[in-house]
Amino acid sequence: MRINNDIVIEIARDAGFTLVGFAPIELLNKEVDKLDKWLLRGFNSGMGYMERNIDKRRDVKLILENAKSVISLGMNYYVDDRHENKMGFGKVSRYAWGKDYHLVIWEKLSDIITQLQEIDENFEAKSYVDTGPVMDKAWAVRAGIGWLGKHTNVINPSSGSWFFIANIFTNYEFEYNKIIADHCGSCTACIDACPTHAIVDEYVVDANKCISNLTIENRGEIPDQFKNNFDNWLFGCDVCQDVCPWNKKFSNATLLDEFKPDGNKQLNLNEIFTMTNSEFKNRFDTSPIKRARLKGLKRNAKFIE
Ligand code: SF4
Ligand code: SF4
Repeated sequence: MRINNDIVIEIARDAGFTLVGFAPIELLNKEVDKLDKWLLRGFNSGMGYMERNIDKRRDVKLILENAKSVISLGMNYYVDDRHENKMGFGKVSRYAWGKDYHLVIWEKLSDIITQLQEIDENFEAKSYVDTGPVMDKAWAVRAGIGWLGKHTNVINPSSGSWFFIANIFTNYEFEYNKIIADHCGSCTACIDACPTHAIVDEYVVDANKCISNLTIENRGEIPDQFKNNFDNWLFGCDVCQDVCPWNKKFSNATLLDEFKPDGNKQLNLNEIFTMTNSEFKNRFDTSPIKRARLKGLKRNAKFIE
């Protein structure tokens, strides 16, 4: 039996993906040229992996030789809750309130691919969630999931930007979605609200200044120039997405329990200062917070104390 768009959409929706789009495989020339310019300006900060495998980022056929389509998927993680302004606590970005999305989504992608291969054993697939030499956001845009906002997150016109992106590359052909036009218009809310002025131009974020990078990927010290600008963010930062009118208007609560707060919405700074490696491992082993490592979390806590 042939797999078609409707079959994929039904299986993906059952697995918990709220957005599904399809795009033909083409070279990502325009997107990679933009990436090159961004790298040349040193805006990737210490994220050296962004400089590697540029050829694969441009040409997905170097990953899956027979690739003809991408199935792009979005999984809503929005929880209708806010941080409390508590003395002695640091704020954690929404995406890290619950279980690590990689763990959740890898399992779901594997189930989806298994089901599709049960329908047609010739269905070849390679899937990615925010890892590997793949331009996740570019494919989501090409597959009509949303447009790239000036804060560089993908925005869906019916649900905003609080969703994780996953992509399945396949040898199958589908009917393809239209690209959604950019609806940012004259809005500059994200640029104006960024506490560290990291959105240095429309659609350009300098990771050297972005709190998300400085508190998560960064392995060095946090530059003193940002002292008192962190707005109490301990792990990640949601400001540019919080102020976006598309999120204010269209965010819907996720139905997935995995992303609901698990005691990690904000963290007690004193607990972090005294935390041992084994306590860190026990508490954050299945949380995205693990990515910062204990050393990074202590550095962040000290910075905002
Ligand atoms: S995540 Fe925070 S620091 Fe980074 S660009 Fe958005 S508002 Fe600025
Ligand atoms: S805040 Fe405004 S400019 Fe920024 S991404 Fe949202 S709509 Fe676009």
